[in-house]
Amino acid sequence: MELIEQNEHRSDSYKLGEITVMCPKCHQIFATANVEEIPVINELARIEADLHRILPDAAIRAAMIATCPNCTYTWWTESFIPDDTVPLLALDAPSIEPVKKFGHAILSSRMYGATNLEKAQIALNAYYCARDSFQSGEKILQIAKEELRIAIETEAHLKNKSRHLYMLAEVYRLSGDFHEAVKYFYQVDRSALLPQELLDHQIRQAKLGNAKPVTIPNHIVKQIYDLRISADRAARFLFMSAVA
Ligand SMILES: [Zn+2]
Repeated sequence: MELIEQNEHRSDSYKLGEITVMCPKCHQIFATANVEEIPVINELARIEADLHRILPDAAIRAAMIATCPNCTYTWWTESFIPDDTVPLLALDAPSIEPVKKFGHAILSSRMYGATNLEKAQIALNAYYCARDSFQSGEKILQIAKEELRIAIETEAHLKNKSRHLYMLAEVYRLSGDFHEAVKYFYQVDRSALLPQELLDHQIRQAKLGNAKPVTIPNHIVKQIYDLRISADRAARFLFMSAVA
């Protein structure tokens, strides 16, 4: 099978490790899980029409965020301050079920004045995490929808606006609000760098009243690559949150 990305550093598996970090809010030093390896996306990657990658275990997405054991501040692991302490010698992060951990992140996004786009990204990942955990994530999807809609309406210099509009349309479709979904799908233009075939397909699904998740067929995954964004950005884009 020909891979889209030919890279000698390409990883074929997910690998979780542990790192020590310092909480930027209360300066507590603690050990937390960290995603060390992610397989590079190829055309066989399982990606849904809302552009998120299906992960084999909810623990992987949960390791992308860290929860401080002292003040429960929860945010992207990479935003915590690296610390040299050996993880074995540091206090452990609290053991929290993945979806609940994202719940803490949503609370932190409200407490610490995150932007609407940051709130939307956390809520979208909370939704993906729920899906990875075989939960519907419907309530979380409502939060993501609201934050993303406000971000698009109010953030004057929003990057990749067209792709965000596509995301919002897809979130509306997944929520069963087909009228709004079609309205936003029609606002997506070529700058979204998405295949027209995908857009047409999702508009058709919305018009048919299909609120179910749709897995993107392999040839469309390949087209998204060919339309191109760099490999790194694409991998991060699809893995992190579907919002670059
Ligand atoms: Zn803290």
